[in-house]
Amino acid sequence: MIPPIASNFVAGEGPAEALDHVRELNEGGVSAILNLLGEHYEERPPADEDADAYIDLVDDIHEAGLDACVSVKPSQIGLDVSDHAFEENVARIVDHAAEKGVFVWIDMEDHTTTDVTLDAYERLTRETDGMVGVCIQANLKRTGDDLERLAPLPGKVRLVKGAYDEPKEIAYKQKSEVDRAYKEYLELMFREFEGGVAVGSHDPKMIEFAEELYDEYGTDFEIQMLMGVRENAQFELAAQEYEVWQYVPYGSKWFSYFYRRVRERKENALFALRAVVGN
Ligand code: FAD
Repeated sequence: MIPPIASNFVAGEGPAEALDHVRELNEGGVSAILNLLGEHYEERPPADEDADAYIDLVDDIHEAGLDACVSVKPSQIGLDVSDHAFEENVARIVDHAAEKGVFVWIDMEDHTTTDVTLDAYERLTRETDGMVGVCIQANLKRTGDDLERLAPLPGKVRLVKGAYDEPKEIAYKQKSEVDRAYKEYLELMFREFEGGVAVGSHDPKMIEFAEELYDEYGTDFEIQMLMGVRENAQFELAAQEYEVWQYVPYGSKWFSYFYRRVRERKENALFALRAVVGN
C-alpha cells in the first residue's frame, strides 16, 4: 500500500485506484494523463509487459468513457533494449489507442533519446492523423529547431522546462536561461502551430505568458500539471474554462517517483506531511 505521504503524488498501485482518481478529477472539470510508473528496463520482457499494461489501460479508459489519455516513457517500453523494441511497442500502443479514440503522449527522457523519440512521434502522428503527442524540453538548445520540424505535423506538443541534468554544451543550466528559453519556445509554438500546444508547467509566470500569447495569436492551448502540485490552481483554471490536464502516475514503482518529487522541492514533502497530520 502507498503511504499517505506519497499518495498526494501517486494515484495508487493499480489501474482501478488510478481510474477512481480520474473520475474525481473529471467531476472537477480536469482531464487526466495516466502514467504507469516504470523506466529503464534493459530486458525485453518487462518492456513488453508494460506496453501490454498500457493497452489494457486504454481499454479501461475507453470502456469507462473517462476524459483521460496515457503518457508513456520510451525507456519503459524498450528503448534501453533497442530502438526497434521501443518502436514496436510504441506503435502497438498508439495503433490500439487510436482505434479506441484514446490519445497517447510520449514523454521525453535525456538528450540521447531525443532523435529516436521524435522520429517515432513523427511517424505515428502522421499515421494516426494526430492521435499522439510528444514532450519537448526548453532546457535543450536544439529545441528551437525541433519545434520548427514539429510545427506542420498533426498531433500535440507539450513544452516543459526539462527534468534531466544535461551537459552544458547542449543545454541551458541556469534557471533564468531555461525560463527565457521556455518563453521563447512557447511564443514560437503559439505563432507557428495551428493547435496542439500544451503548457507543461506549474509556473504561474509561464501560464500567464500563455494567456497573453493566446490573446495575441488565438492559438488553442491546454495546461498540464502533475498530480499533487498546485492542485487548487488546476481546479481554479478549469473553472475559468481553461483546458487542464493532470498527469497522474500510478503503479508499484512509486517510491523513486515520490523521492524525485521530494528532492526537486522540499515544500512537496512538507505539503504532503501537512496533509497527513491534517494541518
Ligand atoms: P519550476 O521552474 O520548477 O517552478 C517555477 C514556479 O512554479 C515556482 O516558483 C512556483 O511558483 C511554481 N511551482 C513549481 N512547483 C511547485 C510546487 N510543487 N508547489 C507549488 N508551486 C510550484 N520533464 C521531462 O524532462 N520530460 C517529460 O516528459 C516531462 N513531462 C512532464 C509532464 C507534465 C504534465 C509536467 C507538469 C512536467 C513534466 N516534466 C517533464 C517536468 C518538467 O520538465 C519540470 O521539471 C517540472 O515541471 C518543473 O518545472 P515547472 O515548469 O513546473 O516550474
